[in-house]
Amino acid sequence: MDQGFRQWLTTVFRDRVKWDEPMSRHTTLGVGGPADALVAPETVSELRELIGRCRAQNIAFMVLAGGSNLLVRDRGIRGIVIDMKKYWQTIERHSDRGSGARLTVGAGLTLAALCRYAADNGLAGMTFAVGIPGTVGGAVAMNAGTAEGWMGDVVEAVEMVTGDGRRIRKEKQDLVFSYRRFAVRNDDTATPGPPVITGVDLGLGFDDSEALKAAAEERRRRRTATQPAGFRSAGCFFKNPEAGDPAGKLIDRAGLKGLAVGGAVVSEAHGNFLVNRGNATAGDLLALMETVQRRVADRFGVTLEPEVTIVGQ
Ligand SMILES: Cc1cc2nc3c(=O)[nH]c(=O)nc-3n(C[C@H](O)[C@H](O)[C@H](O)COP(=O)(O)OP(=O)(O)OC[C@H]3O[C@@H](n4cnc5c(N)ncnc54)[C@H](O)[C@@H]3O)c2cc1C
Repeated sequence: MDQGFRQWLTTVFRDRVKWDEPMSRHTTLGVGGPADALVAPETVSELRELIGRCRAQNIAFMVLAGGSNLLVRDRGIRGIVIDMKKYWQTIERHSDRGSGARLTVGAGLTLAALCRYAADNGLAGMTFAVGIPGTVGGAVAMNAGTAEGWMGDVVEAVEMVTGDGRRIRKEKQDLVFSYRRFAVRNDDTATPGPPVITGVDLGLGFDDSEALKAAAEERRRRRTATQPAGFRSAGCFFKNPEAGDPAGKLIDRAGLKGLAVGGAVVSEAHGNFLVNRGNATAGDLLALMETVQRRVADRFGVTLEPEVTIVGQ
């Protein structure tokens, strides 16, 4: 990154650019080396300008939001990390149509805030997401969900800035959601960098607010009962195989619960949670991941793919 670009970032973003920022401060796993620059744009025009300049200077960029599905390697990230959590937190409710309500939601809004808003206002469809950390943008990018539903069920349209700096909007029929994956049909967002989601239209139904709050409470209770408490994690580390036992069950059956590498350990509470017991490095987590993959493959002939997004050097 040359001096001119650094100067431009400092002038435009002032205290919204952080240099050599440790990613361990921004990921729920609590590991990860420094990003050259963490930049928090506030408007679409700032975002477009930032992406355009990165492209012109051949500087890599990626998006960070809640950091709840990211494993950043120990030497960190070269280039720009765009912080999409700090701003972009609006909720706008449009006129109701027949059996549904339509919301336009900023990508940086937390899923928790969205779920709360929906339950408070008698809007049905978000209960599946209660207890999932992170932002709306991250949840769309990952098609986050549970056995009860995923983001693709409620998304009507997505607004993005493409990797070449264009502002685009894609309607439901152009969006493809599959297991932990989001893509655009006939993809004209395929550019040198990833598209950045700035806002999402959601279609929700109606229900009694008190019933929705009770359902949310029940979901929270179930999650607390089945997931490890008090340790840093990125949720389920591996995707479930297409057929057969889920990843957590395979890990459990292979006798790997409690297996540790340095500060990283396979949770005793849930085999698919690799947790940081306080002093883990990304290297510990990656070594543990590889050991789990090898042992599960040896025992069951199944290759576990990480669900967590692994980035950096
Ligand atoms: C305790 C715990 C429980 C969890 N439970 C679940 C669960 O039940 N179901 C589930 O699906 N997940 C679960 N997760 C994983 C995680 O919370 C979700 O994947 C979440 O949606 C990620 O959102 P985020 O904002 O944290 O994204 P990040 O982790 O910041 O980013 C994840 C990916 O999305 C991209 N991204 C983020 N924001 C944008 C954007 N605005 N535009 C373009 N790309 C973007 C990033 O570049 C990255 O590739 C859990 C995690 C934890 C820690």
